[in-house]
Amino acid sequence: MMHYPKRCVHCNTRYSYQASGDGCFNPVNDKRYCPICKAIINEALKSVSIKFEKVELPVPENHPIAIEQFEEKYKEWEEDTSFIHFYRVNLGPENFKYKDLKIKNQNYKLIENTDTGEKLLETEYERSTTSGKIEDFWYEY
Ligand SMILES: [Zn+2]
Repeated sequence: MMHYPKRCVHCNTRYSYQASGDGCFNPVNDKRYCPICKAIINEALKSVSIKFEKVELPVPENHPIAIEQFEEKYKEWEEDTSFIHFYRVNLGPENFKYKDLKIKNQNYKLIENTDTGEKLLETEYERSTTSGKIEDFWYEY
């Protein structure tokens, strides 16, 4: 469990932000706002509907990042010693291996069936919550 001292960007109160462990998903636990300000923000945002949701689907044909490009970038990422590498904890079935990598603001996930050698590359898309249609890729900024 990691706690960090923070100062609220709105009211300037000092507070403790919990970055991991039990309670880190508490809706008022926030990197920028103290629990009191965050509770007010959460309450105000209840009236704003969610317009897009994130869905994971296979990359389309002719997408610039295919399995080969992903594996090449993943290898470069592993060889880059300039930062600490965080590997996915495999929680799925044992015969599946997962690799995650962000390439040009887009998250990719390579799923490999270690029994058959079959590979599937997925990425994230934004789906409209009103029309249900996929509108674009999901970019992280
Ligand atoms: Zn505050």
